[in-house]
Amino acid sequence: MTKRNSPQAFQKKVLDWYHQHGRKDLPWQQQITPYRVWVSEIMLQQTQVSTVIPYFERFMARLPSLAALASANTDEVLALWTGLGYYARARNLHKCAQTVVAEHGGEFPKSVELLAALPGIGRSTAGAIASLSMGLAAPILDGNVKRVLARHYAIAGWPGQTSVAAELWQQAEALTPGKNCNHYTQAMMDLGATLCTRSKPACERCPLQRSCLAYAQGNPLDYPGKKPKAEKPVKATTLLMLQNPKGQVLLCQRPATGIWGGLWCFPEIAAGDSGELSHWLQQLGINSQAKGEAWPSFRHTFSHYHLDITPLLLPLPKAPSAVMEGQRQWVSPGQVDHLGLAAPVVELLRRLPAKRA
Ligand code: SF4
Repeated sequence: MTKRNSPQAFQKKVLDWYHQHGRKDLPWQQQITPYRVWVSEIMLQQTQVSTVIPYFERFMARLPSLAALASANTDEVLALWTGLGYYARARNLHKCAQTVVAEHGGEFPKSVELLAALPGIGRSTAGAIASLSMGLAAPILDGNVKRVLARHYAIAGWPGQTSVAAELWQQAEALTPGKNCNHYTQAMMDLGATLCTRSKPACERCPLQRSCLAYAQGNPLDYPGKKPKAEKPVKATTLLMLQNPKGQVLLCQRPATGIWGGLWCFPEIAAGDSGELSHWLQQLGINSQAKGEAWPSFRHTFSHYHLDITPLLLPLPKAPSAVMEGQRQWVSPGQVDHLGLAAPVVELLRRLPAKRA
C-alpha cells in the first residue's frame, strides 16, 4: 500500500538523497552563472551528460561570456557545436545571446516569463536557469523530471499531449519548494538521470519507492506513455564530393533555415540526376563527362524523416577555373575544425583519400 507524500515530505526525501548521492562536480555546477547554466541546459537537451562535458568545456574556453557569444560569428558557434546534433539549438543560442545584449543590457532577465520569451528557451529551461543560477523558486519539467513524476503519480499518456503535460506541470509546481530550489531542481534531475532511468529504474535504491504508484503497480516502464508511432518518410539525396588535384573538396554553406541550417556540406544533387552534376562541373569551368564513383549509400535519420545518402566522389582532372566566393570554399579534409559541419559530412571527410596521387 503506497502512502501519499505531502509536498514537504516529497521534497525532504529527494533532498536528503541528493545531499548524499547527487552530482555536484559537473563543470556547469562550478562558478555558477546564468550563462553557464543556460549553455549546459541547451546542450543537455537530447544529449547525455558524458557527451556534453567536453563540448561544454571547449565552448566555455572559446566563448566564456554571453558578450563573447553574442559577438562571435555563426560559423564559430556552429563549429563548436559540430557533433552535438540538433543544430537549431546552436543557432537559437547565438540568437538568444544577441537578444539578451540588445534588449536586456547583456544580463539575463530575472523572471521565468521573460526568460521563456527568449529564443530557444522553453518554460522548463527558463525554470532551470532561474532556480539553478538566480535563486528563484521555479519548477522545471525536463525529460528526467517528467519520467519521475509520471511514474511516481502514475500519470498515463504521452507527455507531448497537452492534457498530460498540464497534469505533469501541475505536479511539478505543487512540489517545488520556496527555499533551496536550486538543490531541489538538481536533485530531481539527478534522480531521473541516475536512478529512475528510462529502461532500468533502480527502485530498490529510490528514496520515493514507498510512495511511488508505478512501483506499487509493478509497471514503472509503462510511464511516461510513448509517443504514438508514425512511420517516418524516407527521402534520398546524393552528396557530391568534388575533389581537386590538391585533394581539397568543395563545401557549400547551407541556408540558415532547413536541415543542417548554416552548416557546411557537400553540394547536394537530386539522387541520380546527371544533369545537376553537369551543371556543377560547368559552374566550375570544368569540361568533363565523368560520372564519378558512387560510394555505398547510408541512412541518416532526422527527427521527422530518414535520409538515404549516396556519396558521389568525383576527382577533377584539373583545378577549377571558377573563383570561389561567399558560401563556397575548397577545404582540405583534415583541416575543417573552424567550420560547422553536419555529422554525415564529418564522416565522409574522414573517409576521403587525403590527397590524390
Ligand atoms: S520507485 Fe522506481 S519508478 Fe518510482 S520514482 Fe523511484 S526509481 Fe522511479
